[in-house]
Amino acid sequence: MKLVLIGPPASGKGTLARFICEDFNLPHISTGEIFRENIKKGTELGKTVKPYLDKAELVPDEITMQVVKERISKDDCKDGYVLDGFPRNKTQAELFEPMAKMDAAIHLNVDLKEIEGRILGRKTCSVCEKIYNTRYYDSDTCECGGKLYTREDDDIETIRRRFAQYETETVPIISHYKNILKTFSGGSTPQDTYEPIKVYIKEILTLDK
Ligand SMILES: [Zn+2]
Repeated sequence: MKLVLIGPPASGKGTLARFICEDFNLPHISTGEIFRENIKKGTELGKTVKPYLDKAELVPDEITMQVVKERISKDDCKDGYVLDGFPRNKTQAELFEPMAKMDAAIHLNVDLKEIEGRILGRKTCSVCEKIYNTRYYDSDTCECGGKLYTREDDDIETIRRRFAQYETETVPIISHYKNILKTFSGGSTPQDTYEPIKVYIKEILTLDK
């Protein structure tokens, strides 16, 4: 099952991807995570992409395409994967088309106001990158033992800019995937958002058999 998740920044897309990957035993491919990991390790790729991430700008398509191509060629992707944060624009979606055929595109429809409320309480684990919201989770420590921190790009101004960028760059890919696309609204908790999506994925898997 090859699945692509489309949703605005800070919409809870990452958490959703984790739920799906855990339940359906699929690898989670987050280009953002791959980039941050490489920056942390100080690799060549990390050095190249850091300036873009620092300025909350999109990493050039050719770099992103190369990273995704390498990642999906690994063994754990044989039976599918969940793409989170990729494709980010129509060019990437079109370049990706001959590389892999997607089974489903899940579109998370969350508005900017909701996101602004949500990110005020967002914290990320410094070890496993799991995201928490202090509205639902009242601790400074991740369940893995890692310390939680507020990501630098989590301030409102940056989110507004990334949201505007999402609307111009990423919203056009919704029409690209229209034949396999299903839109869901954000629920009051990540679990609420996930429930109907889980049901939907199970349905697709049943149809596939
Ligand atoms: Zn953790």
